[in-house]
Amino acid sequence: MSLSPSSLIERSLTLIKSEFDHFGDSTIMKEVDIRAPRYTSYPTADRFVEAFGPEDYIRHLQAREMRPAVPLSVYVHIPFCSALCYYCACSKKITRNYEKAERYVRHLVAELSLVDARLGGDRRLLQLHLGGGTPTFLKERELRILMSALREHYALSSSGEYSIEVDPRTVDDEKMALLSELGFNRISLGVQDFDRQVQTAINRVQPETLVQSVLDRARSLGFESTNFDLIYGLPRQTLAGFEKTIDSVIAMRPDRIALYSYAHMPLVFKSQRLISINDMPNVATSQAVFRMANERLEAAGYEYIGMDHYALPDDPLAKAHRNGLLHRNFQGYTTQPDCDLVALGSSSISRIGSCYSQNQKSTNDYNDCISQGILPTQRGLELSRDDMLRRAIIMAIMCQGEVDKETFEVNYLIDFNQYFAEELLALEPLMQAGMVDDESSRIVVTATGRREALRLISACFDRYLSDQKSRARYSKVL
Ligand code: SF4
Repeated sequence: MSLSPSSLIERSLTLIKSEFDHFGDSTIMKEVDIRAPRYTSYPTADRFVEAFGPEDYIRHLQAREMRPAVPLSVYVHIPFCSALCYYCACSKKITRNYEKAERYVRHLVAELSLVDARLGGDRRLLQLHLGGGTPTFLKERELRILMSALREHYALSSSGEYSIEVDPRTVDDEKMALLSELGFNRISLGVQDFDRQVQTAINRVQPETLVQSVLDRARSLGFESTNFDLIYGLPRQTLAGFEKTIDSVIAMRPDRIALYSYAHMPLVFKSQRLISINDMPNVATSQAVFRMANERLEAAGYEYIGMDHYALPDDPLAKAHRNGLLHRNFQGYTTQPDCDLVALGSSSISRIGSCYSQNQKSTNDYNDCISQGILPTQRGLELSRDDMLRRAIIMAIMCQGEVDKETFEVNYLIDFNQYFAEELLALEPLMQAGMVDDESSRIVVTATGRREALRLISACFDRYLSDQKSRARYSKVL
């Protein structure tokens, strides 16, 4: 494709530039409502096209058949939840009808067979993640069916990472023991905030003692790593309340912590309309909460990994971070090398070779496709060479905080400074703000930039970012 920037890129670069022209120090940056993608993929999912269908996905799967040595990562989406959390932006289905889950799991197994018939090979499964929705909505029978189907198709490895998102309200000692028996070695607990006022406002009441007991059980069962998801910016959240939450979290000492910023977008996410705007903390409070949490976590020995993630120094994620070996996929940061990602279930996104393929978002449409024996691809994208190049650069920024220009010149046969002349120009305001340095042979994100501007620095290399309207779809960067 032509390397010259399109008018769309120019417009987006101008936007980024104009928004940053007045920046002189990072505290100002924190106050500004800038939006950009989280870059769990590039191009981002909103660039996928419906012209990409099941036949295209099959073609890419078959092309990978000849490369069985490429290890696999599998994501399984379980969309069911028994109650609605008002802040939710996930693809989920609220139900108390368990028959839906039974049928869905039968379809997951069928989808796995459809995929594996094309992908073939004796693949090592290095990474498995069950997300949702609420994976622990599933009962023992369906969890067993799902895990034995995965084991039938793929070889689990002793060094693999097999994780499941756990809603503390849905597990007891027996279920935790079952998860361990089935081969899961990591859990991620949705904690959000221990403040009862906040829990009530988001319709997710779960006592601290409940989380502590699930954590204790996980440790006694030998789970290798535990993660807590926390959210700042939630309704009725206060600095004093979240201080208590952070102190409790530090006392519990999970291996990893994800501290997400709540993005209130009621026009996009219907469930968020149940949150009263009067309960929302102002920007200054949210920023104070974030700064406090960040300072306390680091004072307690947690290492900042990137974006929203922290880990204890002995955790593999922290080690990978120190050694420049981090990777990033739809689940966030990972220690596993680039794998093909097979995603099963409604709305899930596979990454196979040079394509992304997303399944039907509606569970009903997903079920219909599988019932007819066809892959449930709704949309996707075949990446161009330029997409692959930019994806590699954005991942290098997000994971290593550094882009070695010469490596990209050799691998992609380009003159880096010439190919990315516009992008380097767009970086200038961020350089002036002390977020990034453009050295002759490298682009290096500064320590401040790693905390405050990873998305924006990446966005400078995003060919698709076009106008304010499209950027408004993304959550707040800071
Ligand atoms: S936040 Fe999680 S548990 Fe709550 S409704 Fe959304 S998907 Fe379900």
